[in-house]
Amino acid sequence: MALKGQSITILGAGIGGLTAAIALARRGARVSVIEQAPELTEVGAGLQITPNGTAVLAALGLGERVARIGVPLQAVELREHRGGRLVLRLDMTQAKHGNDNPYLLLHRADLVEMLAQAARRHGVALILGKKATGVAIGFDQATLPFEDGSQRDCRMLVGADGVHSLARQAVEGTRTARFTGQVAWRATVEARHVPIHDMPRVATVYMGPGRHLVTYPLREGRLINIVAVEERAKWVAEGWNHLDDPANLRRAFSSFPADVRRLLGLCENVHLWGLFAHPVATNWYRGTTAILGDAAHPTLPFLAQGANMAIEDAWVLAEELDRNDEAEKALAAYQKRRRARTRRIVRAATDNTRIYHMSSPLLRGPAHAAMRVAGMLTPAMMLRRYDWLYGHDVTRAC
Ligand SMILES: Cc1cc2nc3c(=O)[nH]c(=O)nc-3n(C[C@H](O)[C@H](O)[C@H](O)COP(=O)(O)OP(=O)(O)OC[C@H]3O[C@@H](n4cnc5c(N)ncnc54)[C@H](O)[C@@H]3O)c2cc1C
Repeated sequence: MALKGQSITILGAGIGGLTAAIALARRGARVSVIEQAPELTEVGAGLQITPNGTAVLAALGLGERVARIGVPLQAVELREHRGGRLVLRLDMTQAKHGNDNPYLLLHRADLVEMLAQAARRHGVALILGKKATGVAIGFDQATLPFEDGSQRDCRMLVGADGVHSLARQAVEGTRTARFTGQVAWRATVEARHVPIHDMPRVATVYMGPGRHLVTYPLREGRLINIVAVEERAKWVAEGWNHLDDPANLRRAFSSFPADVRRLLGLCENVHLWGLFAHPVATNWYRGTTAILGDAAHPTLPFLAQGANMAIEDAWVLAEELDRNDEAEKALAAYQKRRRARTRRIVRAATDNTRIYHMSSPLLRGPAHAAMRVAGMLTPAMMLRRYDWLYGHDVTRAC
């Protein structure tokens, strides 16, 4: 089904849905995106878009725009929670993944706004304030009933409706998520309040027993993004918008270095959410409905790949729909190109928890010493560890 003139409906105007809208519209499809939120507002938080993600944005003609709103990452530093001693520094300017696109630190709201503007420029209809209450998949179309009593028949439907996806439910039934025993806080702090004058372009991970905290700069260093993860037995509902008392965050990280404590002292608006593990979807399509992004493969945030995978999915879906004559063939090819890679990424993100959170000092000491030595003796090898991830460019591979 070459895309020219084809009508496609996308459910969800998140990063995945908007990128898919641009990719499909650039190939000539007539695209509508339906979003429940009345406005495209975003949680004030940071996002890392890695070279595998910026490769797609560049191929969509958005390379310069995204570079303008992002901070290029220079280094990643892993530090001990007590005293902040350096364990490992990875100089990202030396990383050669076989993919020259930048590794950027972005504010989510800036990325969503840039994508929405690009979608509109390509003639995409963004329909806001319309909540689907289900997805019914028929032989050659899908139907979306809405909360306002209306409904829409879609010849082709892309479910980009996030972690609680109705489209995924319709494609392969309900799958239960497992609470991982971890919660995460996120906050941003204005850098002008912090006694750091020249904000380095570094992502720092402070690793403590059963907890870790990540900081990195946003918006040319005017904001500092904070993500803090703690292991705990208590269940917290999955979702992004639960406000928490900043005192709880400060208490959980009171043994961390003075700089970190000072930063946490400035947090006013703090979100807390529970981290859940979900299986990657087995089936990514049924009839003429496909799923992408968190709808297909929600992930833990420890490899910063949820949005990057959604961006990759968007490119591959548009490419396969454009090059195959039949929708069935196109969607099977899309699933084939995406499922194994996303499974590997989701697994790698889960494994990172163990590295960051070692509780026993008997294990933590030797493990940190080994990382320190490896970083000194074989820095290039440490950088190559993620070539499979960052070096992959879906716009060149097929
Ligand atoms: C703490 C944290 C840090 C992260 N950091 C990174 C990072 O650094 N890099 C990275 O790549 N990823 C990161 N991620 C993951 C990333 O944010 C998500 O994977 C990504 O936003 C998923 O995009 P999506 O478009 O699939 O889903 P979403 O962004 O969830 O979008 C889904 C959209 O669908 C809409 N919708 C849902 N249901 C309906 C309905 N019934 N009717 C109409 N509209 C509906 C929603 O309102 C929403 O706008 C992080 C996640 C977390 C939690």
